[in-house]
Amino acid sequence: MRKLLIFCGFLFFLSLSGQLAAKQVKVDSLRFWTAPDSTRLVFGVSSNPVHNIFLLDNPSRLVIDFKNTFKNRSIIQPPASHPVLSRIRSAPRNKSSLRVVIDLKRPVNPQSFVLKPNKTYGHRLVVDLKHGEQISRIAKKTTTTIIKTPTRISKKTAPFPIKSAASSYYHPKELVIAIDAGHGGEDSGALGSRGTQEKKVVLAIAKKLERMVHNYPGMKPVMVRKGDYYVGLRQRMTIARKARADLFISIHADAFKKRSVNGASVYTLSNKGASSEAARWLAKHENAADLVGGVSLDDKSDMLKTVLLDLSQTATQDASFDVAGKILKNFGKIGRLHSHSVQNAGFMVLKSPDIPSILVETAFISNPGEERKLRSSKDQQKMAKAIFRGILDYFQYSAPAEIRMAGTKHKISRGETLSEIAVQYGVSMKRLRSINSLAGNKIQVGQVLSIPQG
Ligand SMILES: [Zn+2]
Repeated sequence: MRKLLIFCGFLFFLSLSGQLAAKQVKVDSLRFWTAPDSTRLVFGVSSNPVHNIFLLDNPSRLVIDFKNTFKNRSIIQPPASHPVLSRIRSAPRNKSSLRVVIDLKRPVNPQSFVLKPNKTYGHRLVVDLKHGEQISRIAKKTTTTIIKTPTRISKKTAPFPIKSAASSYYHPKELVIAIDAGHGGEDSGALGSRGTQEKKVVLAIAKKLERMVHNYPGMKPVMVRKGDYYVGLRQRMTIARKARADLFISIHADAFKKRSVNGASVYTLSNKGASSEAARWLAKHENAADLVGGVSLDDKSDMLKTVLLDLSQTATQDASFDVAGKILKNFGKIGRLHSHSVQNAGFMVLKSPDIPSILVETAFISNPGEERKLRSSKDQQKMAKAIFRGILDYFQYSAPAEIRMAGTKHKISRGETLSEIAVQYGVSMKRLRSINSLAGNKIQVGQVLSIPQG
């Protein structure tokens, strides 16, 4: 009997300690993503942790105290070259708490929020460290435009002033093309069966397009995201606006449960409703990116602006439809189209009132053949070119005369070959040589080639 009592007591103790353990929050993982003006830390946690964040000086460090929490695995360290984070340490505190200390290389402004579980991840605690632009050194080195990601817009400024003469004052001749690679960072986008991540392939296509735009006289690219980090959907529009973009192109790769579905599609915004059930589904899926990538608290104040945006959107819908049609036509030349007409759907990212904005679903990552293409640099180049040709076709009619007359010029960058340039513009090597009076295939960095119409 006594033995039984002890045994029961032991069982009770077991279940009690089990309950205690279950109540404790478990920290499973830490990921970090570095944008030009901020670094995002994402803690994978078993449930929402009660936490406290503060900064300490000399040396500069960030402290995160998790109440009733334990660490499940060791936390990964940032690379030595990380611009902001130095070393991450953690230790249990007051028996049931966890303290994480992060040594910092520069001052930051921390902000945290929790994200609910979704298909990809469980509960997450996101800590955003704002530190201002830190890549100005790199910006000077590259010739492409690096714009400062805007800070919070003051209440006094009109939320989204309609583009006026002011913008042409800043860029009297250059057409600014905002290139938006979808997803990024915590948000991988759609996944292929070989594990291809949409965020990676669309950034590769975006970078190829950036180069083409950069090499075209009178045009200037602006990359909405330049690396593997997430940018909120409304923030993407803000970046394009700050750069006074004349055109906004969001690049994505589609996914569908049926692997046989393939082809490209081009979308413009519709306020009234999606053109098909599939379009509605896709828009819902893409708009949910913020749930995965994680919006910042700043984005919430943008609600009103979005309402205002909707009111004036119609003004640019015709232009969006026009450029979308041109790009779709060029995609038709390189491969299959998923839909032969421009599609409409309520994509959040296309809601700028005054910038013609389109979204290109380049191919289906869920289709094995197209997944292979999305991974191939050569095919990425073809897709970028189809978009670029569409842009040129569009501006052929709507751009200021001085740009229309400029013709295509290409300035040779380091590592480029004549055959690559021929492929890029779809002209033969022979024609390229003859137009530029070249005896052989030798070209020099900085040399400017005339490119004949393909
Ligand atoms: Zn996408």
